[in-house]
Amino acid sequence: MVDEAVVSKPARPQIALPKAVIVRREDLTPDLWKMWLQPEVPFTFKPGQYCTIGLEGIERAYSIVSAPHEPYLELFIELVPHGELTPRLWKLQVGDKVSIRPRAKGIFTFEPKWPNHVMVATVTGVVPYVSILRDYLHTGRAGHRFYILQGASYHDEFAYDKELGEYARRHPDWITYIPTVSRPHEERNKGWTGQTGRVNLILEGYLQRWGLSPQDTLIYACGHPGMIEDVKARLIPKGWKVKEERFWK
Ligand SMILES: Cc1cc2nc3c(=O)[nH]c(=O)nc-3n(C[C@H](O)[C@H](O)[C@H](O)COP(=O)(O)OP(=O)(O)OC[C@H]3O[C@@H](n4cnc5c(N)ncnc54)[C@H](O)[C@@H]3O)c2cc1C
Repeated sequence: MVDEAVVSKPARPQIALPKAVIVRREDLTPDLWKMWLQPEVPFTFKPGQYCTIGLEGIERAYSIVSAPHEPYLELFIELVPHGELTPRLWKLQVGDKVSIRPRAKGIFTFEPKWPNHVMVATVTGVVPYVSILRDYLHTGRAGHRFYILQGASYHDEFAYDKELGEYARRHPDWITYIPTVSRPHEERNKGWTGQTGRVNLILEGYLQRWGLSPQDTLIYACGHPGMIEDVKARLIPKGWKVKEERFWK
């Protein structure tokens, strides 16, 4: 009789992945934080792409906040309490290391052939847009219009609102930033005087107000799969092109 243990499949060779060291960390809320990584290997990417990082063999994708000219990879992460990886990442501090796949991936990138870019996000879904805008401004490009709509339950979850608001103030003719909270009556949003309502519900009103049309505008939707589904269901039948990046199923 053949010993099954002897003929069982050989163990998959373990690939030694490069590491990235955490050089900075900033906590925003009890479940949102920013983290800056320095990969041990050269790491190139296009604005809008994601990296794959891991711990103890558990790997997940994270869109990159920073632009390619910046020295570190900046990430903006939400803690998923029962998730496999984020509770482990949450415990890490400056000096700790994660694994990193050596190549960035993704096609959720800027499409310059469109004059207008409407970028819709829920919370961490704003990440690729920050990278795209930082790069656009750094490289001194011109000629496009950007409209960023970011939704969150609470105003302290926007994370990049000061930066994006500043870009909009500096370039009012071609950058617009609208943060919107979906739970305006809760205590945590006390004092909020900005836009309210879910991004997917207010989007069409803004498209009209901005005078945009499906012929000259690309819609990007990133983050919560339910938001993306709803945006597509509303806009695609009316002729809009929607480019999407789902963060989970
Ligand atoms: C291309 C891409 C880019 C991404 N970029 C980012 C990013 O910039 N920042 C970021 O925080 N995450 C990002 N994600 C999500 C990330 O890859 C992980 O899925 C997430 O961090 C959860 O990992 P986990 O192992 O803790 O949870 P898992 O064990 O993978 O998931 C546990 C459960 O939670 C659900 N889930 C996963 N994420 C969330 C969430 N945020 N809210 C509610 N439920 C969730 C899963 O569907 C699953 O049912 C991205 C995903 C993709 C595909």
